[in-house]
Amino acid sequence: MISVVVPVYNEEKNLHLLMDRLEAALRETGRAYEIIYVDDGSRDNSLEVLKGFIGRNGVRVLELTRNYGQHSAIMSGFSVVRGEIVVTIDADLQNPPEDIPALVRTMAEGNYEVVGTVREMRKDSIFRKFPSRIVNAMTRKITGIHMSDWGCMLRAYRREVVDRMVESQEYSTFIPALATLFAKRMTEIPVGHEERHAGISKYNLWKLMNLQFDLLTSFSEFPLRVLMYIGTGMAFLGVAFGLFLVAMRFLYGPGWAAQGIFTLFAVLFFFVGVLFFAMGIMGQYVGRIYHEVRKRPRYTIRKLHEG
Ligand code: UDP
Ligand code: MG
Repeated sequence: MISVVVPVYNEEKNLHLLMDRLEAALRETGRAYEIIYVDDGSRDNSLEVLKGFIGRNGVRVLELTRNYGQHSAIMSGFSVVRGEIVVTIDADLQNPPEDIPALVRTMAEGNYEVVGTVREMRKDSIFRKFPSRIVNAMTRKITGIHMSDWGCMLRAYRREVVDRMVESQEYSTFIPALATLFAKRMTEIPVGHEERHAGISKYNLWKLMNLQFDLLTSFSEFPLRVLMYIGTGMAFLGVAFGLFLVAMRFLYGPGWAAQGIFTLFAVLFFFVGVLFFAMGIMGQYVGRIYHEVRKRPRYTIRKLHEG
């Protein structure tokens, strides 16, 4: 059985077409299927439209209490899946549902645990693509796994991987990266990409930066390590500079040293700056610990509607 999880946030104009195309694509696989729509606190009519689909083969609608963000919404859908193969897809029809059969076929034939996708002709603005390139490069570095397109959410996971992701009670997360912690056999296939069917992207530069920061701090200690190196480097420079000042003092007398006072001020400011920077980063980690220990639910489900 295939479970398709679709996060939905203000997508009322896309849902009817999505439903029809999903249904056709899933029938083509010849397998049993379910489609789990997660309403991520939409403010438009999305929930009503979704409820209207109940009764059609395999449709289930998960209603969250408010907007939790794409990744949390998908995770809540993961918590109720029944299929062996779990596919995630966006609701805005940027990922063609017609690519699902190929995804499922690749997974079954190669016995893969995760099948990622690469958007061949990406139809997004340069402002959306450029940050993605940074995210992709960084995710490759952090996970050590050479997938080229981490942002494309049309992906397939084996049920075991999904269950393990649900079990890991992390607060902020990035699903494609999290999956790599629990899977060994991974591959990626090329898929199509289209313009958003209707509505506007829910990601602005700010949200993307936050996602990137979550990724960096939840999957690596890279910032802390860099900080340590910078700190060590600074300390050496400080000592060297101090020795230099002493030497100059002896060579050229006290007159020279007095003029050096401004240099010292500059150095002081620089050190203070670095210190603040360090405290900022440490604060981020402390903040995360605070988040984790509070064990707040990542999402709260109001009701599961099904036929
Ligand atoms: N989405 C969501 N909650 C949010 C933001 C987005 O469930 O807070 C859903 C959205 O409805 C869509 C998918 O996540 O199905 C991807 O969002 P979007 O198309 O806006 O992102 P982009 O394609 O620009 O990366
Ligand atoms: Mg989109």
